[in-house]
Amino acid sequence: MTDSNRRPVVVWLRRDFRLGDHPAFHRAAQSGRPVVPLFIRDASVDSLGAAAKQRLESAIRCFADRLRGMKSALILRSGRAEKVLPEVVCETGAVEVYWTREEHPSADARDARVCAALEKVGVCGEEFSGRILFDRPDVLRTKSGGEFKVFTPFWRALCAAEADIPSPLPVVSFLPPPDVWPRSESLADWRLCAGMGRGAAVVGGRLRTGEAFALSRLSEFLSREVGGYSSRRDLLSVRSSGLSEHLAWGEISPRTVWGSARQLEGSESFLRQLAWREFACHLFHFFPKMESSCWRGEWDSFPWRGDNADAERWRRGRTGVALVDAGMREMYATGTMHNRARMIAASYLCKHLRTDWRVGLRWFAECLTDWDAASNALGWQWVAGCGPDAAPYFRIFNPSRQAARFDAEGVYCRRYVAELSGGSSAPGSALDFFRAIPRSWGMSPSDAYPSAAVDLAAGRARALRAFGDWRA
Ligand code: FAD
Repeated sequence: MTDSNRRPVVVWLRRDFRLGDHPAFHRAAQSGRPVVPLFIRDASVDSLGAAAKQRLESAIRCFADRLRGMKSALILRSGRAEKVLPEVVCETGAVEVYWTREEHPSADARDARVCAALEKVGVCGEEFSGRILFDRPDVLRTKSGGEFKVFTPFWRALCAAEADIPSPLPVVSFLPPPDVWPRSESLADWRLCAGMGRGAAVVGGRLRTGEAFALSRLSEFLSREVGGYSSRRDLLSVRSSGLSEHLAWGEISPRTVWGSARQLEGSESFLRQLAWREFACHLFHFFPKMESSCWRGEWDSFPWRGDNADAERWRRGRTGVALVDAGMREMYATGTMHNRARMIAASYLCKHLRTDWRVGLRWFAECLTDWDAASNALGWQWVAGCGPDAAPYFRIFNPSRQAARFDAEGVYCRRYVAELSGGSSAPGSALDFFRAIPRSWGMSPSDAYPSAAVDLAAGRARALRAFGDWRA
């Protein structure tokens, strides 16, 4: 190999910690050049919620170990990407920088700045797909060429265009190392878990991180559980695929999930859920303010309550409504929450407590290890009634009826609410919540369970009245 062929390619990782179906790594490996995998701690990392930061640390550690096992490495640097990347290019003599497109509006702006900065040092930056099923979030269009606003037509269009979903690429098994590795910072020094306090040990105990784990969970789910998914997915005590955090951190590609599930009878209901993730990215692309503004603009004038004492009780799982509290405590102690519980807890905040959906969105972003900007924003706007294809405001989840239907034996509520659980101490149990919360919350498992601060019927009537007055 000539000296010029020893000049490396930098693969800048963001939320794509895998080697299978990774177009950027695939191209870098095919180039035959040395490859420098790089992760940058920039503002997008510093602004993550506490649980997402902890999950990121775990993803980085696991992926760095994997690279080390194949005689490569993950270089860590901090700073603005448009400053760090040209520096690494100059230090290594790299000829190109590759990355996977992130489906977030602020990433678009940052990546444009990075391209301009790289051009100044004579290097091209190239973006690859891999985070969603299609190459871009705007590939699917309505017949009139616009974006989709309703899920069912989006789903039909997705199925009709299925042939355009690229097949997953093979796993990259060798990344030639550079002659000299550039300097790397230490992951431990980044202290990404610091914001979790004593919750880090509790949530950390259940984290299952990395591509190998994601693939084995996919295969277990597809071989044993997908057939019963449509009839059981709403049952609160039954786990679903659990793939969302792996998809969120790019430890498995949606194309791999789609391609494996597609071949199985009875997988349609599961694929439809995966398509909601795609729909969320599609909407986010066309409405970049989805995390901060109501998709239906008229809702910006709705008299939501700002943050308030009821919302604080909601965050702490102390509303006195067992199903809502179970969901909120599940999230705090495990970093995740059952999809139906997310809908019920979110509805309770926005409707019974008439609190602004953005208050809830921010708390979910703080606590979820599968946090994904697009899915979180779509979920909240859907529940609040101000989003595309949203549940109408007058459709208000009744937590008691939901519990009777989807947690008839009370298994889920007892699993996460210690005051109702008879002292179970299994991992992921009710007591885990108390191990995770700050002492300053002053809560103990021996406290009496609170009575409901807001009567469900009265809260519903108040919400409907507020909606009626606002519309009048
Ligand atoms: P499964 O039921 O096994 O579904 C398979 C995959 O389909 C999931 O992994 C996920 O990628 C996708 N999916 C399923 N339901 C949805 C949905 N409603 N919207 C978008 N994608 C979906 N999901 C996140 O990944 N990150 C979030 O931050 C997030 N915030 C949410 C907030 C609210 C208020 C609500 C109502 C939903 C939110 N969701 C979010 C969607 C959903 O709750 C989770 O994706 C799901 O619970 C993850 O569990 P699972 O992987 O076992 O899902």
